[in-house]
Amino acid sequence: MVKDTNGKGRREDKSPGQKLADKLFFNPGNCWEGIDGKSAREIEDFAASYKEFLDQGKTEREFSSAAVEMLKKKGFVSIDSLGPKKLEPGLKVFRHIKGKALICAVLGKRPLKEGANILGAHVDSPRLDLKQNPLYEDSDFALLDTHYYGGIKKYQWTAIPLAMHGVFVDSNGKKTELRLGEDGGDPVFTITDLLPHLAKDQMQKKASEAVEGEDLDVLAGSRLYDDEKAKDRVKLLALSLLNEKYGITEQDFASAEIEFVPAFKARDVGFDRSMIGAYGHDDRCCAYPALRAVIGYGAGKTPPERTGICYLSDKEEIGSVGNTGAQSRGFENFIAAICGEGELRRCLSSSAMLSADVNAAFDPTWASVFDKKNSSYMGRGLVLSKYTGSGGKYGASDANAEFCSQVQALMTRNKVPWQFGELGKVDKGGGGTIALHAARLGIDVLDCGIPVLSMHSPFEVISKIDLYMCYRGYTAFLTDYI
Ligand code: MN
Ligand code: MN
Repeated sequence: MVKDTNGKGRREDKSPGQKLADKLFFNPGNCWEGIDGKSAREIEDFAASYKEFLDQGKTEREFSSAAVEMLKKKGFVSIDSLGPKKLEPGLKVFRHIKGKALICAVLGKRPLKEGANILGAHVDSPRLDLKQNPLYEDSDFALLDTHYYGGIKKYQWTAIPLAMHGVFVDSNGKKTELRLGEDGGDPVFTITDLLPHLAKDQMQKKASEAVEGEDLDVLAGSRLYDDEKAKDRVKLLALSLLNEKYGITEQDFASAEIEFVPAFKARDVGFDRSMIGAYGHDDRCCAYPALRAVIGYGAGKTPPERTGICYLSDKEEIGSVGNTGAQSRGFENFIAAICGEGELRRCLSSSAMLSADVNAAFDPTWASVFDKKNSSYMGRGLVLSKYTGSGGKYGASDANAEFCSQVQALMTRNKVPWQFGELGKVDKGGGGTIALHAARLGIDVLDCGIPVLSMHSPFEVISKIDLYMCYRGYTAFLTDYI
């Protein structure tokens, strides 16, 4: 038992009650306590590589494409280009689904019917999508009409610099990728807000109505096309510039996927630089550690025991729908490809997954919506959430006690600090993850991620030490879960 020293340097035994409390209570502490120089450097290095990756991957397409590049460098091959090559232990494969979702695996020695260890995150984030006919002119401005994606507080998206990302696909199938507003010399875009002087009526409205969905129109130009006889000259100039640079006509917007995201880069936050502020931590701060964990899992000289998988899904923020979302058959199709149709169901029902997604960090500024004793805290490590959902746990997966206990023990055994986390007070709101969709396949699944401040805002905040512990926890799960 640890002894404390008093002010005079005399060692003092803990009282019996204190000793008992140490044994019986669960008090996840601040992970920065006692961090040595070497660990601090590892934490900083991991954070630096994450920030760089995050700046490259601001959309699901960009993030998963950057991930594919990283996987290829580490010896992963596309499962669809394997041909007759035999799937054998140690082989590293991936499948990029429609350029958005991504699944990669390191094949283990054990047969897949015994199950795989899976890390499942999502790589889409709340944002503003362009409508199909977005460009119009009003009062000598060119404006772009948007339809927001995911759960946002609309007023947060006005009066900040925005960047334009996405793809146009022409009638011949030629794809043009677009990324404007990220480089120093690029122009940015913005959505205007009303000056306080004239906002008397606006300020009386509910926050959900102060800026409405149809108010989110992006400012995109104000100069005239040089032809007095032409109509809609500001719109024409904007479109002509897009046409010159990308070959786009107005019709091409109808099929395009153009997303407006905050134009700022990931930055350190605080005097001590202990935190990272960025757009899109949810859920890339779990997706990136999951990806790195699987890459590390495949880096050994000998094949690992169990197959390790990283699943980066899309469309989580709108209910995991579509053929790239976790409700699609994409994941099952991949499992069938690595284990054969015949073993698919057995493999799924023997598999275990950490649903790698973020939780709401306790925020002292907004303390009233949190249950202090059941909240996750920034800097206290990995968050294990038995259930999510809202109201009476609707939309939760609610993991089994047996599986929760196994994962907790695994983290403790591997010295990964962990805490619990329920999203907020009962009936104050709620949310979900991909956990329920994995659970539907018979997979044992537990939500496991890190705490985030200002979630779903243009500038979310996480702790560097949580990010690093997340990576260590996911690595431990891959190597140690049997
Ligand atoms: Mn999420
Ligand atoms: Mn989210």
